[in-house]
Amino acid sequence: MAVEQRTQRAFTEAFAGEVILSRDAGYDAARAVWNGMIDRRPALIVRPTGAADVMTAVRFARTEELPIAVRSGGHSIPGFSTCDDGIVIDLSRLRGVRVDPERRVAQVSGGSLLGDLDHEAQAFGLVCPVGVISHTGAAGLTLGGGMGRLQRKFGLTIDNLLAADVVTADGRLVRAGDDANPDLLWGLRGAGANFGIATSLEYRLHPLDRVITHGAVLHPVDRVNELAALYRDAVENGPDELWLSFGLGVDEAREPVAYVGALHSGSLVDADRDLAELRAFGPPAAGSFDAKPYLSTQTMNDEAMRWGHRFYMKSAFLPNLPDEVVDRLVAHLSNLPDGAEGEFSVWSMGRAVAAVPEDATAYTGREAAFWLAAEILWNDEALDDRCREWARAALADVQPFAITGRYVNDVTEAGGDVARTVYGDVKYERLRDLKRAWDPDNVFRLNQNIEP
Ligand SMILES: Cc1cc2nc3c(=O)[nH]c(=O)nc-3n(C[C@H](O)[C@H](O)[C@H](O)COP(=O)(O)OP(=O)(O)OC[C@H]3O[C@@H](n4cnc5c(N)ncnc54)[C@H](O)[C@@H]3O)c2cc1C
Repeated sequence: MAVEQRTQRAFTEAFAGEVILSRDAGYDAARAVWNGMIDRRPALIVRPTGAADVMTAVRFARTEELPIAVRSGGHSIPGFSTCDDGIVIDLSRLRGVRVDPERRVAQVSGGSLLGDLDHEAQAFGLVCPVGVISHTGAAGLTLGGGMGRLQRKFGLTIDNLLAADVVTADGRLVRAGDDANPDLLWGLRGAGANFGIATSLEYRLHPLDRVITHGAVLHPVDRVNELAALYRDAVENGPDELWLSFGLGVDEAREPVAYVGALHSGSLVDADRDLAELRAFGPPAAGSFDAKPYLSTQTMNDEAMRWGHRFYMKSAFLPNLPDEVVDRLVAHLSNLPDGAEGEFSVWSMGRAVAAVPEDATAYTGREAAFWLAAEILWNDEALDDRCREWARAALADVQPFAITGRYVNDVTEAGGDVARTVYGDVKYERLRDLKRAWDPDNVFRLNQNIEP
């Protein structure tokens, strides 16, 4: 019997959601993921409506020995949420957020997007610190860490993950929390794609005024070292409410530019005080810091980062940001391939992120003061090699300044010892024990894989 017929039989009675096969009209749309470079052909795509369907799908995949790709928002940059010839368990019908304003807790279904959580939480003047593009999946982002503009105040997204419902490799539903399977919760907080499928996640929320101060100021690159010094100073001396980024890119005329971005989540008066020096640096070539709704900042780059572009990135954690690093990166701006948009960005970490002990979660790199990324986006397939090479060469040039640990959610290469470089040797061994306990057959291996 062909896999199509066995699929039909297995999913007819025990499955309430959708099943999409290669012969179906919606197959091509359903197999697409965010990164336009990824083009894979799964044997089938299933869209569960709840944990019961997810359990059915896992058991079916195991019987059929099909590789399993798990998809929430589909934004995995290397394309872990799809596969050739396997099953995609696509949680996009599992979307929904319930906020308990009294307890300041949100219950979030496994296929929800960041925008769903932001929208519901802000209706109650609450927030969970998440990433900066609202169409990213909440589960995928959370299970790797979750960095964003509120992290210095409220920590990473995982630091606010209280519990999760997880379908395990043997098709059972278990809870991971402080009260049940705390070892699993530890692993979910940074290596979570390895242990099961999170069908529901529970987050702690924090009060946040709906209006914050946000923006960026752009300056010509000839004052880049002065601007970097100001940025370092603001990161070191500013309050936890002040999150800053430093960036290098090219303007519309392809001339190099430097910028500082900021989100201040304190009062508008405090923000004016804390941003005064950056404003006084001189009239910017473009940009400003303004009071605006928090929700508008969370969607402002959605269109620029829409589905379908080709994309590559490479990142590192830095203990500091010496001029030498800035100068080396500036030099790489002149090699940016024509036809591609590329930039370097340096996000301020520390504070609430660093306040959590390094061994409290699987996530590695809490002592980093900065996260540095080279990101490049283009549409012409002929540029693939040159674009990837641009990001790789730039990061290789500053690697001597980096510390151990990498942010798992933006590591684009896979296999071999890659996961070990993400977590470091000590944590990798602990993760390995956990993997042996929860997924000894490596059913969940389309991820930065911990080999059991
Ligand atoms: C445009 C864009 C913006 C980004 N911005 C940020 C940012 O601001 N901050 C930040 O920290 N990161 C950011 N990222 C990185 C992002 O966190 C990762 O790409 C993340 O893995 C995406 O999650 P997803 O659910 O959308 O992706 P998917 O491709 O659906 O999944 C990603 C990985 O998580 C696994 N997974 C997904 N859902 C589940 C689940 N329910 N249970 C178990 N495993 C699951 C998948 O198997 C896969 O390995 C961004 C990425 C993109 C493309």
